[in-house]
Amino acid sequence: MEKQQYIDRAEHALYKIYNRFPVVFDHGDGVKLYDTDGQEYLDFGAGIAVLGLGYNCQELNDAVKAQIDKLWHTSNLFYNEPAVAAGEKLQKAAGMEKVFFTNSGTEAIEGALKIAKRYAYNKGMAPDYEIIAMKHSFHGRSLGALSVTGNDHYQEPFAPLIPNIKFAEFNNLDSVKSLMNEKTVAVLMETVQGEGGIYPATEEFIKGVRTLCDEHDALLMLDEIQCGMGRTGDMFAWQGYGVKPDVMTVAKALGNGVPIGAFLASGKAATAMVPGDHGTTYGGNPLVCATASKVLDLFEEKKITEHVKEVGAYLWEKLDGLAAQYDCIAAHRGKGLIQGLEFQMPVAPVVANALLEQKLVLISAGTQIIRFVPPLVIERADVDEMVQKLSAAIEAVLAAEKQK
Ligand SMILES: *Cc1c(COP(=O)(O)O)cnc(C)c1O
Repeated sequence: MEKQQYIDRAEHALYKIYNRFPVVFDHGDGVKLYDTDGQEYLDFGAGIAVLGLGYNCQELNDAVKAQIDKLWHTSNLFYNEPAVAAGEKLQKAAGMEKVFFTNSGTEAIEGALKIAKRYAYNKGMAPDYEIIAMKHSFHGRSLGALSVTGNDHYQEPFAPLIPNIKFAEFNNLDSVKSLMNEKTVAVLMETVQGEGGIYPATEEFIKGVRTLCDEHDALLMLDEIQCGMGRTGDMFAWQGYGVKPDVMTVAKALGNGVPIGAFLASGKAATAMVPGDHGTTYGGNPLVCATASKVLDLFEEKKITEHVKEVGAYLWEKLDGLAAQYDCIAAHRGKGLIQGLEFQMPVAPVVANALLEQKLVLISAGTQIIRFVPPLVIERADVDEMVQKLSAAIEAVLAAEKQK
């Protein structure tokens, strides 16, 4: 079928929420995607930081297929072996006490928020207790997650949301300090802000927030949905800072594409909720947990974090080169294989389109930033190919700007 026919059918049937690129993907292999016209693309988006192990990873495919023939779902009224295995591996990787499996990142955030609320309730705090979140953050689209997402444009049409959420400036410790008081029950932030423009927390900031939380008996809740699972070169980004959260959320690369997320908790946060407080029908079912369990094994076998450090440093060097070469690039930020280039002008969507012409998939974060969140298994040669295509796209956009 013609590409345009798929697009027309999609627009006819599917709720109009996304502005999609006019590409219909058919299959993938490693770090390459193929569309229905048989065109090959180099992928530096990984389905929004999801396909850590890349496409068509044979060991993972085999593990999932084996589970498909065995057992998909039982409900959480019973125990299942893959959930035990995945839970233990996640617990060990994070060095945290308890794991709860969800179906998405958003649901992991909902769970974290419920821990914070339950913690306040357990402490007998008055109901006007406060949660501090960050400006320019992103935590998901449900009403709870939206309440802590520091973006007026997303929030406004759905107000009123959860009350008593205060927004601090990310990487500004004074800003958190000024909002923190006896009403504060938790601070929630991404260790590396993703959608907000690829801003890693500074060490001073994250350590300072940890100390403030300790002083106020507040929970530090770190959203590692995008920056966790090896992406920064540590299994979880906070492990590179020498701080530890009370609650952490993960998702995206945990399932390499099957819908699974989790929240983890330690200390008082690990016992705040009790049986009956929370639940899910699908969450942690054998199918998705067998996948996550194998993903965690493969991360160890393939020494993914070491590889990310190595190839991430190479990507850093190459993008620094581009930033030096082109005046239109204002900044280069990030860590490991989550990096961003910020343009002087709001051309990120135009660049992303020009990149598709070059058969490179790269996503934007806002209107001025392009985001590099490739499969974690990319090699130096892929980085070189990407840089070539990106240079060509930037040249094309600059030439078009001149024409105007
Ligand atoms: C993607 C993302 C979420 C939401 O996850 P979903 O799986 O889309 O629900 C939350 N927080 C961060 C930091 C994310 O990048």
